[in-house]
Amino acid sequence: MIEKRQFYINGQWVEPVEGHDHHVIDPSTEDPVAVISLGGQADTDAAVAAAKAAFPGWMATPKEDRIALLEKLVDVYKARSEEMAEAITLEMGAPIDMAKTQQWGAGFGHLKNFVRAAKGFEFIKPLGDHAPNDRIIYEPMGVAALITPWNWPMNQVTLKVGAAAVAGCTMILKPSEETPLDAMLFAEMMDEAGFPPGVFNLVNGDGVGVGSQLTAHPDVDMVSFTGSTRAGILISKSAADTLKKVHLELGGKGANVIFDDADEKAVKRGVIHMMNNTGQSCNAPSRMLVQRGVYDQAVETAAEVANSIKVGNAHEEGRHIGPVVNETQWTKIQDLIQAGIDEGAKLVAGGTGRPEGLNKGYFIRPTVFADANNQMRIAREEIFGPVLTIIPFETEEEAIEIANDTPYGLTNYVQTQDGARLNRMARSLRSGMVEMNGQPRGAGSPFGGMKQSGNGREGGVFGIEDFLEVKAVSGWS
Ligand code: NAD
Repeated sequence: MIEKRQFYINGQWVEPVEGHDHHVIDPSTEDPVAVISLGGQADTDAAVAAAKAAFPGWMATPKEDRIALLEKLVDVYKARSEEMAEAITLEMGAPIDMAKTQQWGAGFGHLKNFVRAAKGFEFIKPLGDHAPNDRIIYEPMGVAALITPWNWPMNQVTLKVGAAAVAGCTMILKPSEETPLDAMLFAEMMDEAGFPPGVFNLVNGDGVGVGSQLTAHPDVDMVSFTGSTRAGILISKSAADTLKKVHLELGGKGANVIFDDADEKAVKRGVIHMMNNTGQSCNAPSRMLVQRGVYDQAVETAAEVANSIKVGNAHEEGRHIGPVVNETQWTKIQDLIQAGIDEGAKLVAGGTGRPEGLNKGYFIRPTVFADANNQMRIAREEIFGPVLTIIPFETEEEAIEIANDTPYGLTNYVQTQDGARLNRMARSLRSGMVEMNGQPRGAGSPFGGMKQSGNGREGGVFGIEDFLEVKAVSGWS
């Protein structure tokens, strides 16, 4: 059993003041594998005080020096990639090969990208030729609370820490209680990279403890949160009393609109994307909207692809999907699969219960529902598991109406060979991101949502800007 109870505050690993033990469970085996500590108010206060004290010095540190430290972090993060991937696999069940590539790699990409974006970022800019003595100065927000989920743990930690660091904010990271070990490993890397004491602090805790203590804290200037819409609402309310800025990256229920003229790999690509990370992605294309002309073929293909996906222990090498993160999620997903059956959607792959031969671990059968409608629970709720809902449509207008008929607005996907239609769809879909024909968005493209999917944008220049105040100055000489 790994024992790691300490927090990283003011450049040192310290014993918790108010900690209580929390077990980390390996979702592949259901065994407790580590014991950590969840902190309390005194731990939160100590971390906030350290970040507050470090802020003036860090704000005054030249941009080039902040970037140099981030470059050092990139090297350390790369050197310890295996350790990081193993921690992620152990805690949240991403298969080891996928953890080494996608999970670890997402963080690596973001850190490198922040270095590039920061090098090109001007912290003092002219307003324009019409006002030659005006300047816009971008200054760090101050002390930032960074609250992250477990599903792409290093993706989210690096998106926040990298941006906050180059912007000149000091910070307290409170990672998900499901994935404290990889966050603690990341704190070791921050230390090894040589960030000054107090710039980066880590306190483990749960939402009602350290999480809400940070969001209510008078010395925290902003909150950057990624997680569920439910927690996002609570955090917004808690932060309102001190009027701090709240950046929210929340849930999603993306539509993947497949037109009659979509390329032949579109359906397979959509199913694989949906099932990746065992369906635990905020931007998962969880509603597949298929035009009538290719509907029957698409359902058949989707079922075949889902049935061909191997499910297995995350520690085993090879291409498969792992378990979902914990028992609560397992039970919730089972309930939603049952709800799909009860509401009359046609189950064409998977279903309730465990995959054959996997009697322990939080494993789910890759599941596909066809003939669903957009009012069913499986079309409205974020399932966060390997469950795809297929809905038929006739016209482009109908597809847009169904896709937009959701409280969420994170990512939508479009598959068609018709360029004019692609552009129309990009304009009509109410989401922070629209991805076409399987083409990934470029490095530094802003990640974030509309409606109940949030209000911030992460990654590259957009991510840095979210940690900055805008100061208007006249009479600059
Ligand atoms: P969650 O909301 O339960 O927890 C996320 C984090 O918030 C955890 O660290 C948790 O301890 C903390 N927290 C919970 N309640 C809190 C409170 N009242 N005050 C302060 N902190 C609180 O979410 P999760 O289950 O860890 O993650 C899954 C969710 O995250 C999904 O809804 C998913 O869509 C979303 N997500 C969104 C994005 C995005 O960029 N939009 C990315 C990944 C995940």
